[in-house]
Amino acid sequence: MKADIAERLARLREDLEAELRACGRAPGAVTIVGVTKKQPVEAMVAAVEAGLADLGENYVQEARAKFEVLDRLVARPPVAHFIGHVQTNKANTIARVFDVVQSVDRVEAARALGRGAENAGKRLRVLLQVNISPSERFGCPPDGAEALAESIRSEPGLLLEGVMAIGPIGAPAPVPDALDEAFGLAAMTLGRVGGSTLSIGMSGDWREAVRAGSTMIRIGTALFGERRRD
Ligand SMILES: *Cc1c(COP(=O)(O)O)cnc(C)c1O
Repeated sequence: MKADIAERLARLREDLEAELRACGRAPGAVTIVGVTKKQPVEAMVAAVEAGLADLGENYVQEARAKFEVLDRLVARPPVAHFIGHVQTNKANTIARVFDVVQSVDRVEAARALGRGAENAGKRLRVLLQVNISPSERFGCPPDGAEALAESIRSEPGLLLEGVMAIGPIGAPAPVPDALDEAFGLAAMTLGRVGGSTLSIGMSGDWREAVRAGSTMIRIGTALFGERRRD
C-alpha cells in the first residue's frame, strides 16, 4: 500500500504540473490536500512520508483519533484540514484538532469556531464554503457570501483565507459545461469575498478546477483508493 500511495502521489504531482503548464499557470501554484476519511492511519503515514504536507478529514472523532496516532509516527506532522460539515456542538474539538477549517458555511458555525479558537488559544485559518451545485447539501448560497465573510472577519479567533466549494457530482460524469459554470461561480465568489485560496477540485474533477483557477485540490480516492464503507 505504501509504495502504491507514493507512486500515485508522484503521478498526480506530475499530472498537476503538466496541467498548470498547459493553462499557463505558475508551477507549484496548487496545493494537494490528501483526503483520508475512512482510510487507515497507515495510508496517512505513507502519504506524509512521501512528502504530502496537507491532509483533510471529514469526521471529527475519527480524525482526532487518527491524528493522535499519526503525530507519534511521523517526523513532521501534516497541516490538518477539516472539510466536513461543521456541527456547532463539535466546534471546540474542531478548533483544537485542526489547523484549517475549509467548511465554514453559516454564521453560527463561524461564531462557534471563533469561540473554540479563542478557547484553544489560537488563530484558526478558515475558508468560506460556497454552494455551487444543486447536488450539494451544504455551503453558503453565493449571494450570501459577502455577509458571511464579514461575520467571519469579525471573529478575532478566525483568519479568513479564501473559498472552498464542492463541484457538481453527477452520474456518471457531470457535463463539462455545468462543471465550468460551477467552478467559475466559485472563482467569482473568491473575487467578491477576498483571500488567496480557492479550494476546488477532487479526484474526478481537479483538472477542470485547476483550469478555473484552483489553488488547492482535495484528493481522496485517486491517491488512497476506495474508502472503507460503513
Ligand atoms: C471526500 C471529499 C473529498 C475527496 O473526494 P475524492 O472524490 O475521493 O477525491 C474532497 N472534498 C470533500 C469536501 C470531501 O468530502
